[in-house]
Amino acid sequence: MEPKNVMIIGGGIAGMAAAWELAEAGLNVDLVEKSGFLGGHAIGYTCKATSECLQCGACSVEKMLKDVVGNDKINIHLSTEVENIKKNNDYSIKLKKTAAFIDVKKCTDCGICYDKLKDNDIILQGYSKNNAPLYAINREKIDENKITLKEICPEGAISVSDKTSYEDLTAGAIIVATGFDPFNPERKGTYGYEKFPNVISGLDLERIKRQNGFPARPSDGAAAQKIAFIQCVGSRDENLGNLWCSQICCPYALRTAESLKHKNPDLDITVFYMDIQNTGKSFPVFYETCKNDIRFIRSIPVDIFPAENDTLNMRLFDEAQGATAMETFDLVVLSIGIMPNSDNEKLSAQMGIPLDEDGFFKNSDELNKTSTSIDGIFVAGTAQGPKNIAASMAHAGQAASGVLNYLGVNK
Ligand SMILES: Cc1cc2nc3c(=O)[nH]c(=O)nc-3n(C[C@H](O)[C@H](O)[C@H](O)COP(=O)(O)OP(=O)(O)OC[C@H]3O[C@@H](n4cnc5c(N)ncnc54)[C@H](O)[C@@H]3O)c2cc1C
Ligand code: SF4
Ligand code: SF4
Repeated sequence: MEPKNVMIIGGGIAGMAAAWELAEAGLNVDLVEKSGFLGGHAIGYTCKATSECLQCGACSVEKMLKDVVGNDKINIHLSTEVENIKKNNDYSIKLKKTAAFIDVKKCTDCGICYDKLKDNDIILQGYSKNNAPLYAINREKIDENKITLKEICPEGAISVSDKTSYEDLTAGAIIVATGFDPFNPERKGTYGYEKFPNVISGLDLERIKRQNGFPARPSDGAAAQKIAFIQCVGSRDENLGNLWCSQICCPYALRTAESLKHKNPDLDITVFYMDIQNTGKSFPVFYETCKNDIRFIRSIPVDIFPAENDTLNMRLFDEAQGATAMETFDLVVLSIGIMPNSDNEKLSAQMGIPLDEDGFFKNSDELNKTSTSIDGIFVAGTAQGPKNIAASMAHAGQAASGVLNYLGVNK
């Protein structure tokens, strides 16, 4: 008997890792990704290596993407979401493909569409050369540009229709790997994100480093010399009701700071923190090394004000000194954390699998972190709660094993 198909919702590192494991075990996988690209958040991260690898995991995402794209057992549905799911013996699923997309079979990755339309953000370029196609349409920007869009591609690969298209699928099991939303730092109003250009988020810094190779200040493009990282932005915050530690922001801030320092030893970097999430196999040793290069101040700044030459004044209570202090920086990086995906409620209702009190998918069995309350539906990666790349991949492997057991497939 032919093994059953599996549907995976979400093409980030967790969804890709689960898809790859299942395909290697001989199953056909439908990988459903709502954006125009595979890779999720982590495909945009830069390598943090100094003279040695700092184990940030960024390169494993690129490698996994290449493996998934090259695997003919994995059917990739980009720009697609689940419209509805019905459980009979198997799951009957209706997929909804957005009305505007780039046809992977026709696109030659020539970049003509991107060059012509990149200034108004209608066409997006993927981070990875292994993304196929390398370009995607930014759905939010298309309405007023339909005609221009259709004509812009010499290969006719751009499809813009008034009608959304649908596709029916059957799957024996489902993995939910829809990931997380980064905390929106505008919610921390006193830090002036979006008001002061040189207050940026950890994700913004990744984009800036990728584009420039150094920490360029958004206000003038100049290389920042004095940089502050503020930890726990959005996480461990009673006022916001977000009590969880996101687990990833201490490691990414410290690895980023170390790799910036390695490239430019003259940089002056300060990390403002409550506690450093000092766990993991090699992290405690790494943290000790960081103390030689980075200044650590145990205090979460109160607010930020603009100062001369686009610098920023930061007000804080310095616990060590027992007094309020003011300090000026060129660039302030807000170490934003992992929040539940805003699609979780819709997906929870569609599938009948509950969320926990924080808004992540809830496990029905506390000892099995990939379980949900419905047989045959599993959860993987940050859809279940904060995790780094390596932990998301390991969790995805467990979800794939759960699927194989459920379907009675021997690996
Ligand atoms: C600023 C920042 C820096 C970080 N740096 C590091 C680092 O250096 N090292 C590290 O190990 N970790 C880092 N992390 C954590 C890392 O981003 C996560 O571990 C990883 O992205 C989790 O992968 P995921 O697949 O669970 O989720 P995601 O990366 O969020 O991927 C989920 C995918 O599902 C898709 N999706 C969402 N909803 C739907 C839907 N309804 N239908 C279909 N598709 C959907 C999304 O478009 C996305 O492609 C960082 C996190 C942040 C916020
Ligand atoms: S794990 Fe990170 S630091 Fe190490 S090589 Fe890969 S991307 Fe670079
Ligand atoms: S990982 Fe660090 S910065 Fe992130 S929430 Fe936990 S303690 Fe705060």
